[in-house]
Amino acid sequence: MEAKINEIFSSIQGEGPVVGYKQLFIRFCGCNLGCSYCDTEFSTGILYSPKSLYDEITLKYDLSTFHSISLTGGEPLLSYKFLQEFLPMVKGQTKIYLETNATMYKELNEIKNLIDIVSADIKLPSSTGKNTFELHEKFLCECKGIDTFAKIVFDENITEEEVEKSVQIGRKFAVELVLQPKMNGDKMSVSSEFCSKILEKFTKKYSKVRLIPQVHKFLDVR
Ligand code: SF4
Repeated sequence: MEAKINEIFSSIQGEGPVVGYKQLFIRFCGCNLGCSYCDTEFSTGILYSPKSLYDEITLKYDLSTFHSISLTGGEPLLSYKFLQEFLPMVKGQTKIYLETNATMYKELNEIKNLIDIVSADIKLPSSTGKNTFELHEKFLCECKGIDTFAKIVFDENITEEEVEKSVQIGRKFAVELVLQPKMNGDKMSVSSEFCSKILEKFTKKYSKVRLIPQVHKFLDVR
């Protein structure tokens, strides 16, 4: 089993509760969604076998110096069969952090015993043009027992219904919600006042909510 990988690099995590930690990023090609705001290049890449990826990262990096390996994309769960073979090779050397659009719940089920932290998106229809709330609920059901938070990218189009639905999901699965303003390049697409207003709306309904912008854009790292 091979997987197409767009890039492998060491950097600082710029999103969510593990912001600031050094991670080894492995970006998988391909995605099952097509969000309108997606600015990630993940179409081209190199084919790796689990062993060739393991050899390359252990030759170039000392895994013990990383907080975790970030499996990112695209959507890494498209490559779950590859991950079934690759992750046992690195397990125990560092933590495994999965960044996912949180729709491929059956695929997560296949590898969840190998994942330490899940960053699960709750996609808003006002941002993506698709309603994926039901898939996110099925996905979060599979995350029980894994350290999980939900990331919500929002812009000025976020609706009251989306706030309510996101809060319902947060409560149901007792996960922290991380609000992330959509970026235009290295600038937030909404004002600081708007961010405060949205945080206020959420916290009136649910206390486990934080607002964290994409810090790597301010640090000017990848
Ligand atoms: S899920 Fe993520 S990688 Fe896939 S299209 Fe949406 S923003 Fe891009």
